Amino acid sequence: MQFTDLKAQYAALKPSIDARIQRVLDHGQYILGPEVKELEEALARFTGSRHCITVASGTEALLIALMALDLKPGDEVITTPFTFAATAEMIVLAGCRPVFVDIEADTCNIDAARIEALVTPRTRAIMPVSLYGQVADMDEINAVAARHGLAVIEDAAQSFGAVYKGRRSCALSTFGATSFFPSKPLGCYGDGGALFTEDDRLAQAAREIRVHGQSARYTHTRLGVGGRLDTIQAAVLLGKLERFDWELERRAAIGARYERLLAGVAGAERVVVRPDRNSVYAQYTVKVAARGEIQAALQAAGVPTAVHYPKPLHRQPAYAQHAGTDPCAVSDREAARVLSLPMSADLTEADQDRVVEALRQALKAAAGSPSPAAGAARVTA
Ligand SMILES: *Cc1c(COP(=O)(O)O)cnc(C)c1O
Repeated sequence: MQFTDLKAQYAALKPSIDARIQRVLDHGQYILGPEVKELEEALARFTGSRHCITVASGTEALLIALMALDLKPGDEVITTPFTFAATAEMIVLAGCRPVFVDIEADTCNIDAARIEALVTPRTRAIMPVSLYGQVADMDEINAVAARHGLAVIEDAAQSFGAVYKGRRSCALSTFGATSFFPSKPLGCYGDGGALFTEDDRLAQAAREIRVHGQSARYTHTRLGVGGRLDTIQAAVLLGKLERFDWELERRAAIGARYERLLAGVAGAERVVVRPDRNSVYAQYTVKVAARGEIQAALQAAGVPTAVHYPKPLHRQPAYAQHAGTDPCAVSDREAARVLSLPMSADLTEADQDRVVEALRQALKAAAGSPSPAAGAARVTA
């Protein structure tokens, strides 16, 4: 069993993906070829955004968004510590200071109610993360931003395709930034990402920054990066888009089935999805005590798992200096409990049943024999 089954997906899409890659090899426009424009138009339509700018990765999307906003050294960007490092990493690389705000215990997304207290005269932007595939409280976050004149960048690396109050992730704020890393809900066969915005001026800035700040060939009007999406990756993504709606339906059905099956498993708490939005389940994540023991038992039973993420960023050596006034105690607690189970559109019911049964057995065994690991987990919980 695979944690993310990319082979079954390729088998289903092989004729189309192969033909699209071959077309790029034939026309030879490897950089910003026609597939890139075609993809940008398709993604803008799909999300309901005015502009889509494809870029080299999700990380690059975050950096280019921050650069397009013209932030100054020392400006503050409010974000969550319960995320992949790239979120805060790009804030620091852009010369700004990440200000960490704790998460909600049930969704693991940034707690929007805690943001406004941390706004200072130096705050310029808020960067929420739509974690595990569920959009953060964007209406509340946008309202705080509007009151204080801040930009909002949704780190939508895990939520491409998710719906929030009838609108798509990526089209909900100043910028939406997503990733096409292979295992993300929409992935290519290498690195890739995209930015979305309604703002013509910001879209133009992002397009220029993507190509070394060029407003015309060899006219560098601003600082930029080498941040384009390869034409071949655009071709792969156009192939994948052909069954993406079907994949989203499958992900929803598999997620709902996990919910039903796990409701009967003692000790497996689920991440809550709010009723006014869905999750595309970039990760299907549960919370367990004695995680180390459970993960080892699952591995022995042939069930791959992962931890997103074992250590929140305010505890990471590179970011500890940015630990601020919010103690982020909920992030600490949840980081010790979260465990992601196999999830992809091609996960079979038989494999899903095996995952749930193995988890049930592992939890039963862990509850029966308190080990040092279980004791340690209880102390931090
Ligand atoms: C994957 C991810 C990124 C980085 O995307 P890359 O395409 O790997 O650079 C950023 N933020 C979050 C929350 C992610 O999950």
